[in-house]
Amino acid sequence: MSEMKFKVLKPDEAPIPKRMVDSLVIHHSASGRSTTPWEIEKWHKARGFREIGYHFVIIAQGNVYFGRDIEKIPASVKGHNKGTIAVCCSGNFSEMRADTPFHPQFIALGRLVNVYVDAIPGLKIVGHRELANTECPGLNVDLDRMRAYFRALKNLEL
Ligand SMILES: [Zn+2]
Repeated sequence: MSEMKFKVLKPDEAPIPKRMVDSLVIHHSASGRSTTPWEIEKWHKARGFREIGYHFVIIAQGNVYFGRDIEKIPASVKGHNKGTIAVCCSGNFSEMRADTPFHPQFIALGRLVNVYVDAIPGLKIVGHRELANTECPGLNVDLDRMRAYFRALKNLEL
């Protein structure tokens, strides 16, 4: 197990992968807002994964946890894992509102996304449901609006 696994990091400390990456995929946990990476790893192991499928888990309070090593291909979207970084936000955004962009969880997500947007030219930011038949990251997440928010966040000091 990587010594970084399940450690909390500041978004701007996020490691830049050496492997080829062209997109970052956003998920929700479809569970409680404070679902921890340990819980998610337990679910993923029960589904036969070796370990947690996501590289990062962001809980409601805005803490960003490392999951799978950034150099490893994630297990996040069947058939679309190679070349991706996988990030999961704790919560069920089909059930709860997601239009609270100044919530610490979305600020942390935006900062993390922007680290990779700056480091990886042409990086695409996508929601799970844009790649597969799922509600993930939640029907209440307007993905275009979220991407606009990430771009706006680059110019804000919060
Ligand atoms: Zn998902």
